Amino acid sequence: MKTIELSLRKYLDRAYFKVKKSPRYDYWRLLEKSQYLPESQLRKIQFQRLKKLIHFSYKNNKFYQDRFDKAGLKPDDIKDFSDIGKLPVLTKKDIRTNLNSMISSGYNKNRLLCFKTGGSTGKALDIYISEACSEMRNAVARRHDRWSGWDVGEPVGAIWGNPVLPKTIKNKAKSWVLSPNIYLDTMAVTNQSVRAFTRQWEKKKPSLIFGHAHSIFILAQFLDRLGINNVRPKGIISSSMMLMPHERKFIERVFNTKVTDRYGCEEVSLIASECEKHNGMHLNIEHLFIEFIDENGRQTAPGQPGDIVITDLMNWAMPFIRYKVEDVGIASNKKCECGRGLPLMESVAGRTADFLFKPDGTRVAGISLIENTLTRIKGLDQMQIIQDSINCLQINIVPGKDYNLNREKELVHYFRTVFGSNTTVDIYPINSIMAEKSGKYRFSICKIKN
Ligand SMILES: [Zn+2]
Repeated sequence: MKTIELSLRKYLDRAYFKVKKSPRYDYWRLLEKSQYLPESQLRKIQFQRLKKLIHFSYKNNKFYQDRFDKAGLKPDDIKDFSDIGKLPVLTKKDIRTNLNSMISSGYNKNRLLCFKTGGSTGKALDIYISEACSEMRNAVARRHDRWSGWDVGEPVGAIWGNPVLPKTIKNKAKSWVLSPNIYLDTMAVTNQSVRAFTRQWEKKKPSLIFGHAHSIFILAQFLDRLGINNVRPKGIISSSMMLMPHERKFIERVFNTKVTDRYGCEEVSLIASECEKHNGMHLNIEHLFIEFIDENGRQTAPGQPGDIVITDLMNWAMPFIRYKVEDVGIASNKKCECGRGLPLMESVAGRTADFLFKPDGTRVAGISLIENTLTRIKGLDQMQIIQDSINCLQINIVPGKDYNLNREKELVHYFRTVFGSNTTVDIYPINSIMAEKSGKYRFSICKIKN
């Protein structure tokens, strides 16, 4: 993109938020600076925000007033981060059953932004946030988008299943001026749609590919198969689902650039993301307070898996205090060489619902099993594990060219080694793993109720 065109887009971007009286631009500029503050200073800011949220919620939110009272706590009892552990975690069930009392007084539900979470595990939620909170979320996303090499005003190639396209004239015009993106719908990807996408790519030359991990992988497979090599973004952001190491390797080879992995959820938005050094994921601590806890509620040590629990410091309209996301993550005490003060997490181990059970009751991350299997046994392009009951596994596989009966025997043997010799392992060869309605893919599905 020409420098003059890019400068114009940047100018218009700033002007747009000013005219709209949106705080997004200013939030973003502050976030660009605060990321380089020392961690101790960032923690001070984070704790101040946490204290304010706690005081506000106790005074203005019936649901949290009751929680504090039941726990025998007053806001002033929260003297450091560890004291927050005295409050119970907030579950998805708590939110569904207490939706009205979770809206703070002083906020009119009809004037808040409302969205429904995907609910791919049958747990759809209504979430309400204020305009200011929404703008903070967008500002954070923009800061982290730039870590991939992309900059404001540059076009993006969006790779989603069921992408949300600008529909109204106003949104189309806004998109055309501020971010002239191109889209590929990976729910219906064909040689023709990939060729059409690459023709658009030639015209607009996006600097970023952004999408679901597996959707980007599908595009990479098509480009590789068709011998198309003009899709050369500066960076790639993989979001919304686990990025498996073998998919990452393939994507990076096809596009000849690094993938910047990102973790978040619809309820609280961006939680963590890799920077340009790819040393783990920096936590978004100006906006969120993030805990990793074991089954007894204690903070896990760095390197150990723990349930991810989030407090959204900016959503005062419908506070999320100690929200259990139902994902498992691994904290880290490493420092990143990029110089940012934002602490790191090592990785996301998977969604709680994607963990499978061994007969002795121990949990095993389905995603890790898939990764192990695909690197250990040849002839498998893709795989999905469905655990119907404690001793019954359904393995859907997309066979590669080296697949044969011996591979199948190896596969059954591997799963019986992990899950026990009495486990029934049914193998089903399929053409491709289907996406869910949301456009996301699930590779490990546990149907055993916890
Ligand atoms: Zn870094």
